[in-house]
Amino acid sequence: MPNDWSYLVELQKNKPGTLAKILKHNAPKYIREEVRRLIKEGKIKNIQELVQKAVNEKKSLIKVLEEYGIENKERRFGKGSIRCIICKSHDRVIRRYKINICGRCFREMAKELGFKVLGE
Ligand SMILES: [Zn+2]
Repeated sequence: MPNDWSYLVELQKNKPGTLAKILKHNAPKYIREEVRRLIKEGKIKNIQELVQKAVNEKKSLIKVLEEYGIENKERRFGKGSIRCIICKSHDRVIRRYKINICGRCFREMAKELGFKVLGE
């Protein structure tokens, strides 16, 4: 199950401008902080440098970050690995039929999704 930001990164693989934006705005906070630290310590000049490296070497941005010692701590399994695609919650996420919507959003959306709502 792809996660928000690593999924975005994969989608925009060869678009340095968009990747830089994703890294700036969609990356988890700890990654943004680590990148800021790298810039402060002079290991890289700016975000674009990281992105350009990924594009030039045809690597995933996440791999490049790893090379700089920034580990992607996103959960790959367990409760923390899936979120509701609507509200981003980790609670009560329904995985059946691969809908990945939490119980709360499901209640609101069930009819629109074509499920029969019982007990109404
Ligand atoms: Zn939800």
